[in-house]
Formats: sequence, C-alpha cells, structure tokens
Amino acid sequence: MATPLPPYQVVLPHRCTLGEGPLWDARTGTLYWVDILESQLHSYRPASAQHQTRNLGSLVGAVALTQTRGLLAALQNGVVLLDPDTGVQAPLAHPEAHLSGNRYNDGQVGPGGRFWVGSMALDEAPGAGALYRIDPDGTAHTVVEGVGISNGLAWSPDQLVLYYIDSPERAVFAFDYDMQTGVLSRRRVAFRIPEKEGVPDGMCIDAEGMLWIAHWDGWQVARWNPYTGEKLLGVSLPAARITSCCFGGAHLDDLYITSARIGLDPETREAQPEAGALFVLPGCGFSGREPFRFGGPLIPEKT
Ligand code: CA
Repeated sequence: MATPLPPYQVVLPHRCTLGEGPLWDARTGTLYWVDILESQLHSYRPASAQHQTRNLGSLVGAVALTQTRGLLAALQNGVVLLDPDTGVQAPLAHPEAHLSGNRYNDGQVGPGGRFWVGSMALDEAPGAGALYRIDPDGTAHTVVEGVGISNGLAWSPDQLVLYYIDSPERAVFAFDYDMQTGVLSRRRVAFRIPEKEGVPDGMCIDAEGMLWIAHWDGWQVARWNPYTGEKLLGVSLPAARITSCCFGGAHLDDLYITSARIGLDPETREAQPEAGALFVLPGCGFSGREPFRFGGPLIPEKT
C-alpha cells in the first residue's frame, strides 16, 4: 500500500502570471522557475527562504543548468547563456529567428548534455511550433515539426526513451532516444490524457519511470504510468491552471509545482487566490534525479 501524499504547501506569497519550468540546482540548493509572460526568472533557496526575481527583457520559455554556474535561457529573442547573478547574457542559438510570431516554450537538457526546447505560436496557431535540439557547440537541429504547443520533456531512467507532450494533441509521445548521437526515432503515442483530466502541460519523471504531469485547467498534478496509460495518483491543487513540476530538495523528493493565473476573469481570479503560486509537496514519497547539465559530459554521472 502506498503511503498517502503529504498535503501541498504554498511556498511564497508571490503569484506568477504564467509560472513555469521549475528546475532544481542541487549544487546551490536553488529552485529556479520562470514567469514566461512577465519575462522573469525566479530563484528560491529553501535553506535560507531567499527569493529573488530578475527581469530578462524578453519572454522566457524555460531555463536550464549548465556545467558551470551559468544557466541557459530560452528567450523569445534567442537561446542565451545567462549569468544568474549579474543577468549578463550571451547568445547561443536562435533557430526561430525568422518566426516573429512564435516564442520558445518548455525546454530541458537531456542525457548527453544537449538542450531540447520547443516552441509555439503566440496566437497558438495549430502546428506552428517545433522541437529543437541545441548541441553544446550551439548548433540547432529541428527534430519535430508541426507541433501545436510544445511542452513537457522527460527521459526514462534508463535514458532510452524521450517522453514529449504536445498539449493540444492531449498526447504524451514516446521516442527511442540515442544518447550518443541525440537522434530520436520510432515516434509513437504513449497515451492520451482524457478530456476530464485537463490539458497536459509540463512534466517530470520519477525513479520508477512514472510521469508526473501538470494538468492545465485540471486542478492537479497526476502520476501516470507511460506503459499502460493508467493514472496512478492525482494531487488536487487550489488552482485550475497547473503548469509544470520537478523534484527538488536535498533528497530530490520534494515535488515543486508551478501554476498560472493568465486568462482567468476577475471573478475567477478572486476565487483562486493561489493561482500563480509555487507549491511544494515536501517529502512526497517519490523522488527524481538531478537535472542534466548543458555541455556534457556525454555520459552524465549517475545520481
Ligand atoms: Ca508549459
């Protein structure tokens, strides 16, 4: 019998417009996340309860860790290397430089140290997005085209499968993944999310290879078995628009969850005072792994 999940906690009084992309940096004990539409990077150190906000000057879809203390940031005007302390940016790649109606969305570093970042049309035009792979030398490769809203990315614990969410498809896709070359193959639908559960957005994966998916307009994060499509657990939250989640903390067993208040009419917003909050399920009984870091080494250390 699984032990019950702990109740959620609201971490901070701050509310994001579109909170997204939680990312745990174990080296510094820092949780990063972004407020996409406010062009903001947030950081929070649970040990000192220190919360900082930095404006990046451009819509920011995601941030990722690198081998150094610098971050990657997927800004609307390009993917940049970012010094989180000074805000200094250096351009790295911009595969959508010619698409002014698009912005980058969810992104993750995968096994092998490459950065995977998707995109979407600002007006959510169907099929206008794509998924890109950006190699450590800054070369960008288009790996999936015709994407609606490119969202969650997670690699299986054996690093042989990439799971990928295209939100309007309500689908979690699976690809075979070759860590040595970064090549994807054998695309298939792992499972689809039933309409009553909300729209799949960001996700992370636990040590048992089960997916934790944030459900936009679904009031929950849920744990799904990607082999069977079975919903194993649901975590109810006091905000409809749940956007993403990641494991963090000293034991990688605190589940951090982001949310949004964009698009809620004033009445609904009043009824959801926690919309846009950062939530945590401390010591949730499941754990993940440390995020991969951009730039290699090619075979990451096991954690
Ligand atoms: Ca998202």
